[in-house]
Order: sequence, then C-alpha cells, then structure tokens
Amino acid sequence: MIIDVHGHYTTAPAALGLWRDRQIAALKDGTPMPRASELRISDDELRESIETNQLRRMRERGSDLTIFSPRASFMAHHIGDFEVSSTWAALCNELCFRVSQLFPEHFIGAAMLPQSPGVDPISCLTELERCVRDYGFVGINLNPDPSGGHWTSPPLTDRHWYPLYETMVEHAIPAMIHVSTSCNACFHTTGAHYLNADTTAFMQCLTGDLFKDFPTLRFLIPHGGGAVPYHWGRFRGLAQELKKPLLDEHLLNNIFFDTCVYHQPGIDLLTEVIPVKNVLFASEMIGAVRGVDPTTGHYYDDTRRYIEAADLTDEERHQIFEGNARRVFGRLDAHLRRKGL
Ligand SMILES: [Zn+2]
Repeated sequence: MIIDVHGHYTTAPAALGLWRDRQIAALKDGTPMPRASELRISDDELRESIETNQLRRMRERGSDLTIFSPRASFMAHHIGDFEVSSTWAALCNELCFRVSQLFPEHFIGAAMLPQSPGVDPISCLTELERCVRDYGFVGINLNPDPSGGHWTSPPLTDRHWYPLYETMVEHAIPAMIHVSTSCNACFHTTGAHYLNADTTAFMQCLTGDLFKDFPTLRFLIPHGGGAVPYHWGRFRGLAQELKKPLLDEHLLNNIFFDTCVYHQPGIDLLTEVIPVKNVLFASEMIGAVRGVDPTTGHYYDDTRRYIEAADLTDEERHQIFEGNARRVFGRLDAHLRRKGL
C-alpha cells in the first residue's frame, strides 16, 4: 500500500473561493458576513473536482490513500479574527470530510485549525475534537506562524501551545507543521515561507526540550524538512554546542520528514542523511509545483519515482511508503486495521 501523507484540497470547486472572497470583502467594507449555510457544493461537484485531478494522478502514479487537508495557502489565519478563522476552518474541514466519505478507499482527513494571531491555541480544541470525533480525521496541520510571515507567536516549544499538544497526545494525532500564505513581501509563500518554517520549526525543537514533556508527541515537517537534511551537520553541531543529546535521541523519536522534495538528488540526500524510519512518503499533489521537469519528462511532484530510484532496500521502501505513516498516524493505522488492511 502506498500512503501519501501530504495532500491538500487545492482543486475545490470555485464556490469555496467565492465564499471566502465575500468573507474577506465583508471584513474590509463592513457588509454582513456570508453565512456558512450559503456555501452550497453538491456531491457531484466534489466528485468531479477529485476524480479529474488528485484521484486521476493517484491512479496514474500508483498511490492508494492520501491524508487530505484543506488547501494550506488558503488557511490564511492572519485574515480577520478567531470567528472568521473558525467559520472558514469548519467549512474547509467539512469539504475534506465529504471527500473522504465519497472516496473512502482513497482519502482520509487531516484538519485545518481555526488559528488566529494572538489568540490562545486552546480556542482550536473544539474544532480539532469535532474533526477527530465526527469526521474520523487522523491528523492536523499546525501553523507555527498564524501571522503569515511576521512570526508573532511564541516558538513551538513554548507553553503557549501545550493545551494543543495535550489534546494531540490524548487522541494520538500528529501535526504536520505547515504555514499558510505569506503576507510579508520578503517571503514568497511556497518558495521561501514554507521552507523557512520547516527549518525554523526544527530548530525551535532543537533548542527546547519539548519532547521531554511530551514523549509521544509527533510532528511531521513537510517539504523534505526544509533546509534541515542538507545542513544536518550544522544542526548536529549546534545541538552539541547547546549540550543537547544526540539528535537521534533528542528529536528523531518525535520529528518526521516527508518526501516533497521535487528532484532525485534531494531524495537521495534525504534518505541518506535522515534515518529511513523518519521519512514518510508524500507528494503534496496537486500543489505548488505543478509542471513537468524538462530534464526527466515527468512531473516534479511525481515523488514516487524518486523513492523507487533511490538506493533503498525493499523493506526500507515499504517503511517509507506505508509502515512509517501507519506508525506516526496511529488513528490511520487503527482505521486501516478495522478494514482488514
Ligand atoms: Zn502542504
């Protein structure tokens, strides 16, 4: 089985974006907010948006199941207040849930949280628990910077985030650490802000002792871990300077990396530097990089090819494609077992 742990609903019907535009317009000009009930998308529209996009590619490339969350760049937690984020997150999560109901063999949900800059993350627990309890979601996306590129929240190791971690641990829910749109002109959203955040999240964990307090807390750092694998020696050396334990012991029971690195040398480096047990297959398809690589003739985000071509044993490949995802996403494993898989 091939499990893709990083997919977003980037192809949602246009009505979703139009509803959000109205919500943002209402914030600007003081007109009434659109009601959640005013968003109407039929099952047929959902089906079509998936069948012609993600599912078609999954079939072509041979992946079976995608952990599916709302479009990351659309989370835009910096827009409006908690109420605005809360209504928006609930709508987006519901659509991912409906996709998982329409295609139960191929999609299972991960939640966007109704984060808002300066608001206590405890406010996210109601939506998180609703998604786990009512929707059967198996993960969350946690934005370490709801300000959208200005980094006004405390680091991930701060007690500010602890109520969220307590709930994650209680439900065996890992978090993919995933920022959203950058509203800081210095940082391009997917080319800089995403990779900065991946690197930043890792370094925050390195300098802290978060996993002493939460030994079973799990973070998935997407996009191949940003700059982390490439600079592994620097991070090991910094940990040594800071009198931290070896990274294997300090972080690698809790932090995992995905394979959204869109070329072979990147995957070769990732799988050589980072222990295979910490690498989870993902494509982030259909996402930021949608084109075909002229040097290979294949889509950049067809990441299965790179894993197949990497210098790995069959057992290691199985870990990356399936085993690690089932270990990290405990509720996913339980769900699959219930289905006899
Ligand atoms: Zn993503």
